[in-house]
Amino acid sequence: MPALQPRALAAQESVFARTSREAAARGAVNLGQGFPAAAPPAFLLDAARAAVGRHDQYTPPAGLPALREALGAEFGVDPADVLVTSGATEGLQTLALALYPPGGEVLTLEPAFDVYGPQAELAGARAVPVMLALAPQLGWRLDLDAVARAVTPRTCALLLNTPHNPTGLVFTLAEVEALVALARAHDLWIVSDEVYDELYFGPRPVSPRALAPERTFVVGSAGKRLEATGWRVGWVVCPPGLASSLAGVRQLASFCAPTPLQWAVARALPVAREGGLYGALRDSYAARLDTLAGGLEALGVTVFRPGGSYFLTAHRADWSAAALMDAGVAAIPVQAFCSQALNVPGVMRLAFCKSEADLALALERLATMDAARST
Ligand code: GLN
Repeated sequence: MPALQPRALAAQESVFARTSREAAARGAVNLGQGFPAAAPPAFLLDAARAAVGRHDQYTPPAGLPALREALGAEFGVDPADVLVTSGATEGLQTLALALYPPGGEVLTLEPAFDVYGPQAELAGARAVPVMLALAPQLGWRLDLDAVARAVTPRTCALLLNTPHNPTGLVFTLAEVEALVALARAHDLWIVSDEVYDELYFGPRPVSPRALAPERTFVVGSAGKRLEATGWRVGWVVCPPGLASSLAGVRQLASFCAPTPLQWAVARALPVAREGGLYGALRDSYAARLDTLAGGLEALGVTVFRPGGSYFLTAHRADWSAAALMDAGVAAIPVQAFCSQALNVPGVMRLAFCKSEADLALALERLATMDAARST
């Protein structure tokens, strides 16, 4: 019998998929995988219903022209410099294949979203993680000196993520400036994962593209912005002149993103912007963040409040993912986002993009767990 390749054997089940499977099997409230409880906005669903049966065949691999135009208007770029992908994940995969040379090193900030490392490996490169340290009083901190020290002659790219998953960090202008200066000094690409770009609770995130459009690729997600994570419509805003070569790479995977959904997103993006959807979502998520964070703090949990994203990280000495799952609450240990040991063990990521009722139920179950222990 022929054998599977080592890379296939090394591929693990996604921590998100595994957590959702276990949560469903055990009837746990799923604060693990980040997908919203609410239905997508009606104007998006109506646009999709109108497109199915009318727009059902392939689009060009670079994307539906109307969607590229809508994205060009959103980002203030030529539509020719925008690539539509089957989700942000495929955008990131396309960039790994197109940008990272064999043996190249990609600097990532750990804890990091789970696909960055394996995607670099599939491209024959590797991720070099720089840890974000957790200071118990201050929360997560970016150590710019550590990033600079990690650069070697093989470094080819900086992979940034702001707002950052799982920590919720939003990098400051000064931090983004320093990272861009580092990329310029060493002639690195910047891959900027900005899928939570409209989801922030303090200062608006700064994109490195604003400072270095010539070397920055911005990865975005209709699923995250429009609350439809299963639609698999994402995009990459590219430096001028590079999108058509990237389209040549991404067409080899899914050829094009789903056509009727591209139509619907093209319709919905301007409606979302003009109708104030993103501000309404921020308000609604800020309220749910308060519910979950306040409830956890009342249970003696230390909460590291996020500047953006729909995740918070939290810590209590006796907590573990297994103990929480036993209590009926699924969460993801931040250690699962790391290739080395975290300086503070036992930190959990909890998603608050769930219903108020589910957040209340999760808090009730955690309180019951504590009561059972103390008796
Ligand atoms: N971005 C989401 C999270 O971090 C889920 C990603 C996924 O399941 N592919 O939970």
